[in-house]
Formats: sequence, C-alpha cells, structure tokens
Amino acid sequence: MSAGAQVNSPQMAATDPDQAYVRIAGVTKKFGDFVAVDNVSLDIRRGEIFCLLGGSGSGKTTLLRMLAGFETPTAGTILIDGADMSTTPPYERPVNMMFQSYALFPHMTVEKNVAFGLEQEGVSSADAKRQVAEILDIVKMTGFGARKPHQLSGGQRQRVALARALVKRPKLLLLDEPLAALDKKLREHTQFELLSIQQRLGVTFIVVTHDQEEAMTLGTRLGVMNQGRIVQVGSPSDIYESPANRFVADFIGSVNMFEGQVHRGGSDGVRIDCAELRGTVHADRTVACAEGATVWTAIRPEKITISRHSPVAGAPAENMVRGTVREIAYMGDMSIYLVQIESGKMVRVTLPNIMRGGERPIAREEGVWLSWHGSSPVVLTE
Ligand code: ATP
Repeated sequence: MSAGAQVNSPQMAATDPDQAYVRIAGVTKKFGDFVAVDNVSLDIRRGEIFCLLGGSGSGKTTLLRMLAGFETPTAGTILIDGADMSTTPPYERPVNMMFQSYALFPHMTVEKNVAFGLEQEGVSSADAKRQVAEILDIVKMTGFGARKPHQLSGGQRQRVALARALVKRPKLLLLDEPLAALDKKLREHTQFELLSIQQRLGVTFIVVTHDQEEAMTLGTRLGVMNQGRIVQVGSPSDIYESPANRFVADFIGSVNMFEGQVHRGGSDGVRIDCAELRGTVHADRTVACAEGATVWTAIRPEKITISRHSPVAGAPAENMVRGTVREIAYMGDMSIYLVQIESGKMVRVTLPNIMRGGERPIAREEGVWLSWHGSSPVVLTE
C-alpha cells in the first residue's frame, strides 16, 4: 500500500481516534535550501509499533524530532490524539524520546537515572520510588537499582534507558535506533523484550532504524523512507512480498532484478521478455502496464529452485534459466548460491539446509537449472 493510501480524511481523527493516534499531514522540513523531509503524510495507530526505515540521511530522525517538538516543520501539521502540535512545546507533548546514545547520567545510580524525570516534575520521593520499582520490574532490572551505568552491560544500559523513557508513562514513545549499540545476539533478544514491554504497557512506539531485520521483527507496520519521502507503508510481509518499487525491493532483503518488456498480459498474469534471462518471466499477478512497456521483475532468492536437471522435459519453458554455480556460502541454517546465468548476470539463490547426508549436494562450477513458480516474481513499473 502506498503512503498516500494511509491518509484518511481530517474528520476521521475526531470520530475515530484509534485509526490515527498520530497524524502527520503534508509535513516538510527544510534546512536552508535542503529538503530533509519532503511532504510526508502518515497515520500511526494507537498501540502499534511503527518503524521508520531508511538509509542514512533519508530524514527519519528529522521526522522523529518534529514529532517530539525539537524541530518545527517548515510546512504541514502534526496531530497527536487529535490535537494540533504546532504550538505545543516538547515538554507538553504526550511524548518521550529515547535517543541513539542512551545518555544515562554516569555519576547517578540506575534508580536515580530512572527517577530523574519524575523528580523534575515534583513527584514525591515515595511515589517516585514506587514508580521506579515498577518500571525496573517491567524491564527486568530489579536488583540493579544501586549500580552506576558503567557497572552494567550494554543490554542492561539499554533497558535502563528504556525504563527512564517509560517511567513517566508517555502515550507515545519515540525510539531512535534503540538497539544500535548492542551486538547481534543481544539485539535479537532485546527486540523480543521490547515487543513484550510494548504489549504490556500498550504505549504507541515509533522506532527509527536503518536495520531492516530489526524493523521487520519489531514493526506492526513499516514506513520506508528515501530522500525525505515515505515511499511505502505496510506490514512487514506487505513490504517484503509486494514492494512498491525497485528501491523498496532492493532495500528490504535480497532480490534478483531483471529488466524486461511486457510481452503479453492476460487473465493468467503477465509475461515479460527479459534479455538478461534470454527467456520469459510469467508472473501470476496482473499488472497495469501497456504491451511493450519496460518493467522489472523482482524474484527473492528463497523463491528460486536449483536443480541439476531441467524441471521440464523438452525445450526450455518460462520461468527457468540455465547457469553455473560460481560461489556457495554455507550459513548454517541455509546456504547462499551465486549462479552465473548465460548472459553473465549473477543470480542469488538461498536454500535451507534441511537434509543431512542424502543426495550429493550441488557443488561449485556445476551446471544447474534455476526455476521459479509464477507466484514468485513481483513486477515493478518504477
Ligand atoms: P541516519 O540514519 O544517518 O541517522 P536519518 O535518516 O535519521 O539518517 P536525518 O538525521 O533525519 O537522517 O537527516 C536527514 C538529512 O537532513 C541529512 O542529509 C542531514 O545531513 C540533514 N540535516 C539534519 N539535521 C540538519 C540540520 N540541523 N541542519 C542541516 N541539515 C540537517
């Protein structure tokens, strides 16, 4: 689904706030002549984890900072829970932000770090103590209250920062690369913890990340950004299975892309002549494009079958190509094959390593056939 399709009529915010807890409408941010965020419109639902995903400099942090009130939009409006934020300063917004660097106070204990915001607000020390204990329990840091940040692991520091951001019970929590400082294993573990904390508290999370795996794991929905614009909004599977364009297909996961010309449309899908394949791709999905139009077919590596023998008897048919295995990378749970097809192009194929023993595995420099089902190719017109 395109970003534009997410924008509902302004009346909906008043009548159906669950549909749009945060409404970003035509927001642009310029720094001098440079457009960092370009006419973004986006609705974020109450209680969801929305991930803003994009490459470095695509405008993610700037958009987040405008939601928090640290930057003012050059144009457009931001509504949170139906209220226009144009004149609302950061401290009056129902929002908290957890920054890229957790920025814990190094000289303060965990308890003091978490209590800091409450004390600033004049919460009594007995109440603050109770709320801090509650939130440390939620992030599984009970028993660490007396430690200083340098006495904690990276993952523990991250959880303290999260406790500090959550202790004031914001309705909206903005997280900028929350897991960037953690190693891969801890990051995976913490992603699941973050999900369970979010579900327990029902806070709406907006998470900025450049890590697509993180976005896919955490996000109820993702917004993919490129050069200040939102190029696609959808669930992780929508975006992976039906990317809107070549940028998204390439940015999310690995993909094999073949340029071609529409050869024949019909009720059974579309056929595309691809010079690089020296053959025809038949995609089941229908696409609105004229005969002869240039399009791109995107096929994910896990959707390609590799075999020693032609999958059909007789002349080569659609959705298949011959090649030679040039590289094999063993990854444990799966293997990646780089297969050079006759036009010279490299095609990436992944296969799960299910079998142990059994048939002799395909080796480097073996001649193979690659084939795929008509439901696998995605046809992109831009
Ligand atoms: P990253 O993943 O690298 O943090 P990002 O997607 O969060 O990137 P932003 O920090 O939003 O990107 O920056 C978007 C663009 O706006 C960048 O080109 C950046 O250099 C520019 N930019 C951000 N803040 C300012 C500023 N205060 N003045 C001028 N340019 C800025």
